[in-house]
Amino acid sequence: MVVEIISVGTEILLGNIVNTNAAYLSEKCAGLGFSCYYQDVVGDNEERLCETIRTALSRADILLLSGGLGPTQDDLTKETAAKVLGKSLKLHEESKAAIREFFEKRGIEPTDNNWKQAMVPEGCIVLANPNGTAPGIIMEDNGKHVVLMPGPPNEMIPMFEASVMPYLSKLQSCVIFSQTVKICGVGESKAETMVRDLIDSQSNPTIATYAKTGEVHLRVTARAEDEKAARKLVKPVVKELKGRFGSHVYTTDDEVTLEKSVVDLLLANSLTISTVESCTGGLLAARLINVPGVSEVFKSGYITYSNKAKRRLLGIKKNTLLKYGAVSEEIASQMAKGAAMVSKADVVVSITGIAGPDGGSQEKPVGLVYIGCNVCGRMKVKKCHFSGDRSKVRENTVSSALSLMRECILEYYSEVTFGGKEK
Ligand code: ATP
Ligand code: MG
Repeated sequence: MVVEIISVGTEILLGNIVNTNAAYLSEKCAGLGFSCYYQDVVGDNEERLCETIRTALSRADILLLSGGLGPTQDDLTKETAAKVLGKSLKLHEESKAAIREFFEKRGIEPTDNNWKQAMVPEGCIVLANPNGTAPGIIMEDNGKHVVLMPGPPNEMIPMFEASVMPYLSKLQSCVIFSQTVKICGVGESKAETMVRDLIDSQSNPTIATYAKTGEVHLRVTARAEDEKAARKLVKPVVKELKGRFGSHVYTTDDEVTLEKSVVDLLLANSLTISTVESCTGGLLAARLINVPGVSEVFKSGYITYSNKAKRRLLGIKKNTLLKYGAVSEEIASQMAKGAAMVSKADVVVSITGIAGPDGGSQEKPVGLVYIGCNVCGRMKVKKCHFSGDRSKVRENTVSSALSLMRECILEYYSEVTFGGKEK
């Protein structure tokens, strides 16, 4: 079945508010297995809204409208939708009582126009709105379904979840199931090339690639009569992807982030960690500390932005800084070694780079970053070139640092082979 989403409101057209309702509804509809080919935005104008509804009815089975259910003159979604479907409005006693109760609870006197919200199209399904006064409405006509919801997200989302979603689920005969294979340490275009044949040859399940900062997510989605059958279709494709990307796959669990997978790896191997950052100014530590349970492994996070801090806290020699420059492989390595010495952590990650916009040179351009990773005395330094503005460079650096940590810890254990840590 095909869904069309219509967002009503001149404020959206003017760019005063961001159309988050459409994004929310699209995502939910995709999850329910509906196809959405068009999203419309239309102002608070009867003629244009009429035209939009008519066009949508000609090409979709389900129309999801949000906005324009308020009590004022410019709120005309309900009146217009009813007019297009040839339905008259009549008083809905339960909604009138709910509006009265809503105002009584808040000790406010309703104004005359509030009662307008208790008028509903004949023969419609009325949806409760526990967070506001405008009830939601579903109209059925000639096999089409027209759903009207209030604009404020704090009213629309609970109404969608409690009433619209169950209604839509009943219309849908198949279920959709998807699983995401999350990979790091492989660029987007390389990842695409590695799965191009699968993408081209599959229609159920489908594979979609999503580029994230420093990672790529491959989403495998199947459609079937029930969840069990859909899972069965997804399983061999996920297995194939895992085989192709090997240790670059850090999880197939939607809830697991890259930082969580790194923290889990540290916990599983009883490894402690410290970070020492220059241009990322603590972003790496912050991402790791976002993970609940990290206190078991996280020791210290140093921000050694100035050369003086690098000398004082990490014991790096002034001459070394002069010889190599703060942004260099040598300094990344010495930062990690120095922090390992003072914090006594098993794993230390260091970051030094030029985030820009100033400070770059021909030899060391903006976006040049060195990331060091010391795992129980084994050091690896990666040289990276990132593009984008200051915040993009810093975000990319943090993701790459997490990938590098994962890679170094896995390498360490595959080389040590005993499974325990060398100390
Ligand atoms: P109200 O009773 O508040 O007038 P309404 O159903 O008439 O509700 P609108 O007047 O269209 O809805 O919008 C009210 C507010 O809801 C907007 O000012 C905005 O904050 C939010 N809103 C409306 N539409 C959207 C949308 N598509 N995405 C995000 N927020 C929205
Ligand atoms: Mg309004």
